[in-house]
Amino acid sequence: MHPMVKPALRRGWRDLNTVQFGMSPAHALTLGPVDTATGSFLELLNGTRGLPLLREEAHRMDLPEGHVDLLVRRLSRAGLLDDARGGGAAAAELRAKQEVMDRLAPDLAALSVVAREPDGAIERLAARRGMRVRVRGAGRVGAVLAALLSGAGVGEVEVLDGGCVEPWDVAPGGLPAEAVGERRDAAARRAVRRAAPGRPERRTAGTPSGADEAGHALVVIAPRDDVAVHAPDPAVAAPLIASGTPHLYAGIVEATGVVGPLVLPGQTGCAECLHHGRTDRDETWPRLVAQWRSGRQRRVRPCDLALATTVAGLAAAHALAFLDGETPSSTGARWEVSAPALNWHGRPVWPHPDCPCGAARKSVVEDTSKEGGARATMAEQRPSSAPRRQAEATRPAGTWRAHV
Ligand SMILES: [Zn+2]
Repeated sequence: MHPMVKPALRRGWRDLNTVQFGMSPAHALTLGPVDTATGSFLELLNGTRGLPLLREEAHRMDLPEGHVDLLVRRLSRAGLLDDARGGGAAAAELRAKQEVMDRLAPDLAALSVVAREPDGAIERLAARRGMRVRVRGAGRVGAVLAALLSGAGVGEVEVLDGGCVEPWDVAPGGLPAEAVGERRDAAARRAVRRAAPGRPERRTAGTPSGADEAGHALVVIAPRDDVAVHAPDPAVAAPLIASGTPHLYAGIVEATGVVGPLVLPGQTGCAECLHHGRTDRDETWPRLVAQWRSGRQRRVRPCDLALATTVAGLAAAHALAFLDGETPSSTGARWEVSAPALNWHGRPVWPHPDCPCGAARKSVVEDTSKEGGARATMAEQRPSSAPRRQAEATRPAGTWRAHV
């Protein structure tokens, strides 16, 4: 191990013996009491020295025997250390690609703030390169979102859509003006390749087929159609529910941006759960949806460019958090933001007992009509197969003290 006090966290001394790592309340913590010698020794934990060399240095500084190992262990347990050489073979392979590492350096630093384990950040970044994500929809939201995932290091991002690029599909970071008239999916894939750090090897030959959803870590459903955003069609997601593929919704309806739900099939509320829940609350809901779906299709739908970019960005962040092994707040919930006030509101998508997805059977809280108790239900919806996520959840938010 080559310990490095996480450089991503700003350091500040609150008094002579107490050091604070990090600024934002979500990630900051204080460490103390730290004596002067230990304080100076922290400067040596910069990733250039292994433990044997650090022990020698500590000996020269008259620090007590065993102090280094204790300090490293405690800093590590507090989530304050990176291992400059850790993460295994995939991490070593990534570190060897200097151009890619330079591009992704801020993303790696951000991951180091979130990941507690000393090799957690580089492991997650390396894991992204092996992941396959499909984005359905290449409009102002979908194409930008796909490019963001690619730019953030996801190795394989496929984009599916039909038709040709229209002038109103063009968006900074997504489909360029030069692509107008080209096939939408081909233009979006080019945007994805352009955004990728380095030149990832293409593992799939030809164009992906629409039916093959299996093998994807995540499918993002980002329809250009506003009705599909407001009232997602359960039939579209049925193959994803059947194959157990996690999927995330994102899009724009009128002047409202929507991120979520992230559906973990059989564990959290899905599009059909959402439909049943809305019908319970408003019996005319199915009648309205039928009219919206059968109404005349408009060529141009309302889509504020800044709002679309925001939705693409936030949805990509939720997608990345999930791919990194976390449980983002869109899991079983829709985040909605409406112009002009632009406040975000989270609306839970409760598992519904009449939905064949089976999520309601997993839910401890059976009464899905209750709006209260959201946190208890959501906690129970966390996938049981992810011990790391549970371990992560034990980290308290806010500034706390660790004693050395
Ligand atoms: Zn369902």
